[in-house]
Parts: sequence; structure tokens; C-alpha cells
Amino acid sequence: MSDAELVLRSTRVITPEGTRAASVAVADGTITAVLPYGADVPPGARLEDFGDDVLLPGLVDTHVHVNDPGRTEWEGFRTATRAAAAGGITTLVDMPLNSLPPTTTVTHLRTKQEVAAAQAHIDVGFWGGALPDNVKDLRPLHDAGVFGFKAFLSPSGVDEFPHLDQDGLARAMAEIAGFDGLLIVHAEDPQRLAAAPQRGGPDYADFLASRPRDAEDTAVAGLVALAGRLGARVHVLHLSSGDALPLIARARAEGVRLTVETCPHYLTLTAEEVPDGASEFKCCPPIREAANQDVLWQALADGTIDCVVTDHSPSTADLKTDDFATAWGGISGLQLSLAAVWTEARGRGHGLEDVVRWMSARTAELVGLGAHKGAVAVGRDADFAVLAPDETFTVDPAALQHRNRVTAYAGRTLTGVVKSTWLRGERIMADGEFTAPRGRLLTRTP
Ligand SMILES: [Zn+2]
Repeated sequence: MSDAELVLRSTRVITPEGTRAASVAVADGTITAVLPYGADVPPGARLEDFGDDVLLPGLVDTHVHVNDPGRTEWEGFRTATRAAAAGGITTLVDMPLNSLPPTTTVTHLRTKQEVAAAQAHIDVGFWGGALPDNVKDLRPLHDAGVFGFKAFLSPSGVDEFPHLDQDGLARAMAEIAGFDGLLIVHAEDPQRLAAAPQRGGPDYADFLASRPRDAEDTAVAGLVALAGRLGARVHVLHLSSGDALPLIARARAEGVRLTVETCPHYLTLTAEEVPDGASEFKCCPPIREAANQDVLWQALADGTIDCVVTDHSPSTADLKTDDFATAWGGISGLQLSLAAVWTEARGRGHGLEDVVRWMSARTAELVGLGAHKGAVAVGRDADFAVLAPDETFTVDPAALQHRNRVTAYAGRTLTGVVKSTWLRGERIMADGEFTAPRGRLLTRTP
């Protein structure tokens, strides 16, 4: 441990080889050694002993809508990254839409990076957007360091980010495959959505019927076929329909380069429990029935679903009306995602190692940050969350760092309290107090 400036010690450190008592040495923001628990602390190094609290790699959340600049009344980099730090997240990748401008040209990317740079409490990277008219911008965005490109197959919810039809999808996918980029897709088929009964109002069952599983299943089937034909890397965003999983598993077995994520709300909330008019539960695709949720958990367990990300997509409270058809669709979960997933996971017999795999290691790999993030291992950034895994708390919206304190988790009792969060060896959050922003902008590493 000769060069260590800092030693972090816990009886439960989650490493890629399993959970063990260990001392983690840090120098220049990087992990330099993972040593036995009782290893000598070198002279001059500071020791932080967390006792039985768990030391885990900081989470990497690759699906966050920060909305800054342009819709900062919905969320901004300062508030989003504070909420993330409070929840044990040390890296987020920002979605290209709901900010103004959207991240669809290099100029727009620069604008967003400038806004984020001064405010970020954690590391921040960016997705680009694939629109019907910006195929020429994709390669320059890729070269400028976006981690991949988001496309919608059905209306996105904001006019400045139109969706792709099948021709547009094929064009964008071929272009992106040409430089071996990653295409990430909101997969709901517009024809199936149009064919579903569209009854507005406060009844959640009507909303659920308006976004049926077969809209997802059909869209995923089309994506899989196209990805297979073009040899493209495609990632299915926020999968909610368990019915799409056999098709996904088959495609992967046949070598299609497909990855899949789901979200805490699909894994922890059910359609049966959504109160009428409670549009804080509205998102697209929707939260489905309990039986469907069991299928999603099975797919996480067997690896068909790769990872879990928040899809944190807030708005101001006034847009969360009691009419499910017109209320803003998006769930705020950034600060609560680790506790929500851990609470449900442990009840289903999973360990924290599984949660770390789904929310840190695999998401880091998805965006090509696997050499720097996602594990307590030598050479990785010294990004950590310290978690009291058995401590419980009741979700009080007033205690959230999100700009708008609207949450579907209000009043729930969750297990797992994040005591502190560390970024490159610096404690950036402890017991709800934050240091000055010291996050960095991340770009795709070639
Ligand atoms: Zn989203």
C-alpha cells in the first residue's frame, strides 16, 4: 500500500470476486490495491473504517433525463446530480431529450456540456439523439464522445424530438452500425398503440390498456430483425413487457448484438396498486401487473435482462394531472433507485452483489466505461457508495433532492440507507450533506 493517500475499510466490500472484509487503497482518485481487512495503513494515509456498512462501487445510471438547459424547472444538473449522489450513484448518462436544445448536433452537445460542467456533483456523460433529419450529425456526435444514440419508434412526448418510422430507423441504424456505435431504442410500436383503446381519465386500467404489451413486443421483434440483418449493436430501453423476453433470449442466442434494461418502477411497483388519478405512477411503457413483474425478475436472474436504470424523467407538479392520457409521463426515482431495487431484490432472495451487477458493472460496460467504473478493483476510479443494508426509511418527498418532489414511492418503507458517496476518492455526500460540485464530464473512450 505504499502510495496510498486513503484507505477505506469495511467488513463487507463488494468486489467482482464476491463480498469480503477488505481494505481498499486509493491514490490520485484511483483504486491502487484491494487488501486484507487488517492490512497496515501506510504512514500519512487516512483511514476510513465503515465497520459493517457495505462498501460498493458507485452506481452507474445510464438513463437519466436532466432537462437542462431549457426545462430546468423540471430538473437541472445541480439537483439531479445531488439526488444521484444521495442515492449512491456516481455516474449518470443524460438522455438527449427534454432539454432545449436536445442533444442532436455537436453544437447542442457543447451547450449541454457547458451547462453541466459547473453544476455536476457526479460524473456526467451524454447520449445523442437520432431524429428523422439528423443522420449527417450522428458520426460527428460519435466522434465528439456521445455514448450512443437514442431513437423513439412512437411519439416521444416532446415536439422537438420526433420519432423514426421504419425507414428512418433503418437509415439511422445502418449509419450507426457503420462506425460500430450503439443505438438505444424506446420500443413501442405506433400502429399497435393506435389500435389500442384510448380512453382518457383517472382510471389506471384504462391507461394500461392504452399501452399494451404487444406494442412493445412488436417493436422489439422489428428491432431484433433489423439489428440481425445490419449486424448493429442495439439496446432496448426500459423493457416493461415480460412477453418480449423469449424473443429477446432467442435473438441473443442466435448472436444478435442486443442488450436490455428495465427500471426500478417496473420491478417494485404494480398496476394493481396504482390509485386512480395518481399520475406520479405514469410512464411509457407503463407499470404492468404483478405477474408480469415476476417475469422481469426471472429475466434479471437468468441474465436475459442486463441491467437496471432509473429512467428518471420528472416534470413540474402541475403537469402531473389526474388524467392519465394527458399527464406528463415519467417517474422520478433517481435518489431512491438503489433502496427500491435492493428492498425488492432481497425479498426475492437476491444479494447486493446482484444489485451491483445490474446497476453498476453492467451499465458501465454498456457505455464502454468498464475499465474505469462499475467495480471495486485495482485501476478503477475510487467511486463508492457506503450502504447500511438493513436500515430502513420511509420515503418523505420533502427529503428528496429532485427539483420537483413528486414521487411514486412516497410513503413506502425502503431498506438500505446510503451513508456516504465517494467520487475519485473524495467524499461528495455524507448523511445528506454535499461538498461543492466536483463531477467531471465523460466522453466515450474509443
Ligand atoms: Zn427515458
